[in-house]
Amino acid sequence: MTKLYNDPAEFSDDQLEGFVDLYSDRLAQVPGGVISLPPKTPQVAVIVGGGSGHYPAFAGLVGPGFASGAVVGNIFTSPSAAHVYSVAKAADQGKGVVLTFGNYAGDNMNFGIAAKMLKAEGIDTRIVVVTDDIASDPDFQKRRGIAGDFTVFKAMGAAAAAGKSLDEVERLGNLTNLRTRTLGVAFSGCTMPGATTPLFDVAEGQMGVGLGIHGEPGIRDDARPEAEELGKLLVRTVLKDAPDSPGGRIGVIVNGLGTTKYEELFLLYRTIAPLLREAGYEIVDPEVGELVTSLDMGGVSLTVLWLDDELEPLWTADAYAAAYRKQSAPLGTIEETYEATATSVDEESLVEASPAALDVAGSIREVARQVAELMRDQEDYLGEIDSFAGDGDHGRGMVRGSEAALTTIDEAPQKAGPSALLRAGGRSWAMQAGGTSGVLWGASLEAAANRIDDAADRLEPTDLVQAVRAFADSMVTLGGAKVGDKTLLDALLPFADALEESEAPLAEAWSEATRVAKDSAEKTSELRPQKGRARPLAEKSVGHPDPGAVSMAMILELIGQSL
Ligand code: ADP
Ligand code: MG
Repeated sequence: MTKLYNDPAEFSDDQLEGFVDLYSDRLAQVPGGVISLPPKTPQVAVIVGGGSGHYPAFAGLVGPGFASGAVVGNIFTSPSAAHVYSVAKAADQGKGVVLTFGNYAGDNMNFGIAAKMLKAEGIDTRIVVVTDDIASDPDFQKRRGIAGDFTVFKAMGAAAAAGKSLDEVERLGNLTNLRTRTLGVAFSGCTMPGATTPLFDVAEGQMGVGLGIHGEPGIRDDARPEAEELGKLLVRTVLKDAPDSPGGRIGVIVNGLGTTKYEELFLLYRTIAPLLREAGYEIVDPEVGELVTSLDMGGVSLTVLWLDDELEPLWTADAYAAAYRKQSAPLGTIEETYEATATSVDEESLVEASPAALDVAGSIREVARQVAELMRDQEDYLGEIDSFAGDGDHGRGMVRGSEAALTTIDEAPQKAGPSALLRAGGRSWAMQAGGTSGVLWGASLEAAANRIDDAADRLEPTDLVQAVRAFADSMVTLGGAKVGDKTLLDALLPFADALEESEAPLAEAWSEATRVAKDSAEKTSELRPQKGRARPLAEKSVGHPDPGAVSMAMILELIGQSL
């Protein structure tokens, strides 16, 4: 939903004023659009355009090495012929003009009329229409222009900047279009400024295949697959439509339509790039980001430009536009590969564990498995209670941490004692879990490990009680919280006290202390958080227990069952 506007009817003009003010060092506003400051040597003027709502297309692509001017229509609306004429006339440097745009009826008419007006004045004017959208028609000529606008405009901008003639710029533009294909999918529609409902809806769990960039829904709706499947679909469909003599080198664009996050695009590229390489292509200067958008639409598209000896230098050429800057920099090559080294038990440094210690180590292995399982089961619930005043990731963090610890412990040599297991497990937990609770749990498991002697002949219940105390002390020192601050300490500290004070045998004492921990965790509902992420939203947290205290009590209870 577009939330910022004054008079919705003035949206396009209003935004353009801000844009021009921002880039007044390099752009000038003319009636109907913007032009680049003139280059030192006159060149063919490449005029791009269409409606607005597609930023960086089209105004953001004006600058040296790219477009000479952009005509800026209203949202999703073709600019008038008079405006096209005005911008082209202002940008013309006596070397001729190319008008270029996506293949839409309104644009075809208005740019067509403007071309006639310019020609009538003796300005040699050509038209290059972009038709990259595979889904829009089997007939190449009838297809719409979507993200392929970018490759075609860029090629012509680079050709013009290189001093090529009007004939050449036109020919290279058409060649680029002939060798560009795009397929897009939409996840959600876009909403015009001032409107209250989107131009189209995509049902939950569905996607529109074959999107347009003016709020046109997909050609058909399909179930939305996982990212990997989507990447495969895009690559398969685009490659199937390869042009004649495709060659082995391609330019690639993974384009976000407006509200699809860059992280999602990178994730998609992670599937797309290897598939393209497997198909035998070398990827040249790929682009992943928002290049041609459709207001706040959710969706992505994949564009492939099949390069040849003429097109590659145009695709890789420098450009300096408001929204797109490219400069070939002398980069070295990265030869080393960096691999994350998981923490593992260092076999060399293992002390000889006593049989008693090995017995305890066996229990730790089993408990680690149970804790990871418990956290997986409780992930959603812990996330939910973390979402009232926190960021909703406590469940995820506990799953990541406990699973990392489990993996490390599982892979540890059989001769590892409890101290070695807890130390390495704690390190893995801290490294993988993330979040405040992750570092507290990880570091404190290590602190507990330091209290245990793997070589000792006997491990007494008091050793365990001391390890619990070390675990708690570490959390206090590291987190700086105290009882009543609404943190995991509100479960852990009463637990540790109860355990120490009890005179019952260990299993019984632990179970009594567990009741205290669970009770205290529940009572945190009444508290206002004084530490951590939840503090600023303290009021929202009242009525809900502290997630860290709840997970702490759960795990303590689980450990008790194995004593
Ligand atoms: P994050 O807050 O970084 O998102 P989590 O959601 O995994 O991390 O964990 C939140 C829990 O961490 C809280 O519920 C609280 O129990 C605990 N916590 C936060 N800050 C502290 C602190 N300073 N000392 C002890 N525990 C804390
Ligand atoms: Mg959190």
